[in-house]
Amino acid sequence: MATDVAAAVGRPAIQIGNRVHYAYAEAPAHTLETIGRASDGYEFKLRRSAAVRYREMVAAAAQEGIFLVPLSAFRGVAEQKDLFFRISENRNQTKAERALTSAPAGYSEHHTGYAIDLGDGDNPSTHFSADFAKTAAFRWLERNAPRYSFELSFPPGNPQGVAYEPWHWRFTGDQESLETFFRVTRP
Ligand SMILES: [Zn+2]
Repeated sequence: MATDVAAAVGRPAIQIGNRVHYAYAEAPAHTLETIGRASDGYEFKLRRSAAVRYREMVAAAAQEGIFLVPLSAFRGVAEQKDLFFRISENRNQTKAERALTSAPAGYSEHHTGYAIDLGDGDNPSTHFSADFAKTAAFRWLERNAPRYSFELSFPPGNPQGVAYEPWHWRFTGDQESLETFFRVTRP
């Protein structure tokens, strides 16, 4: 596997303004598992390894009175393309729409099935907002998410130049997820 990693360093990236986006392959459908449902029935999905740890994390948070909710998880390339064009044509974008389209199709961590956008179920007004960083849910995640192998993809000052996204977390708790993110973020 190490040679695959080496071979993949330098795989395609694009630059938009000051932001760099790396290309990601879409997770095969059979590797995904439903971890929750939106009110309209839309299914949030993650890779199985991430889904297992995600459920443990949500249960641990609940024990401490923290209500973590999924806002977006796996998104396919076609879904991202549709969102990107449909939403970017609309001048009155909401925070959620801007968050969902921060990367063009083919370049979102959400394609991998290892990334999830999280919210505080007790503070829905902070969903996809910088204010999420002020919630009890976020403070809990900062302290505890590493134990479940979730980390912030875009902390303040991240090398990709992507705006701080306190809601966007990625799983790096197994070989495949590490290689997915490691091989694209090494210089
Ligand atoms: Zn996200």
